[in-house]
Amino acid sequence: MDATLSLGRVAGIRVGVHWSVLVIFVLVAAGLSEGPLPDAHGEHPIWAYWSVGLATAAVFFVSLVAHEISHAVVAGRNGVPVDGITLWLLGGIARLGAKHHRRTRSCASPEWGRWSARS
Ligand SMILES: [Zn+2]
Repeated sequence: MDATLSLGRVAGIRVGVHWSVLVIFVLVAAGLSEGPLPDAHGEHPIWAYWSVGLATAAVFFVSLVAHEISHAVVAGRNGVPVDGITLWLLGGIARLGAKHHRRTRSCASPEWGRWSARS
């Protein structure tokens, strides 16, 4: 899966996002802004709910980037070169260096969260 948009390099690792990240971003933002936030605190204007929903989606995205970068840094420290990571709908995909041709996947969900960079 190729990145639709490059975010540059973090800790020397290329980071890109696939367009499908927008799906989870919208689900998080709209899911909060149209449901639990107005239900729990109905006295605020709609822009306040959307501000919090969008901020929460942004924090979720940043935490996902940090999560995937940590995998790549640990892999690099263990001798597994990482060419880059691509964030997508369900998490991230690491592209391992030429020595390791297998792609690995990790995800924000606990059952997919294990690093599987074994050669
Ligand atoms: Zn993970």
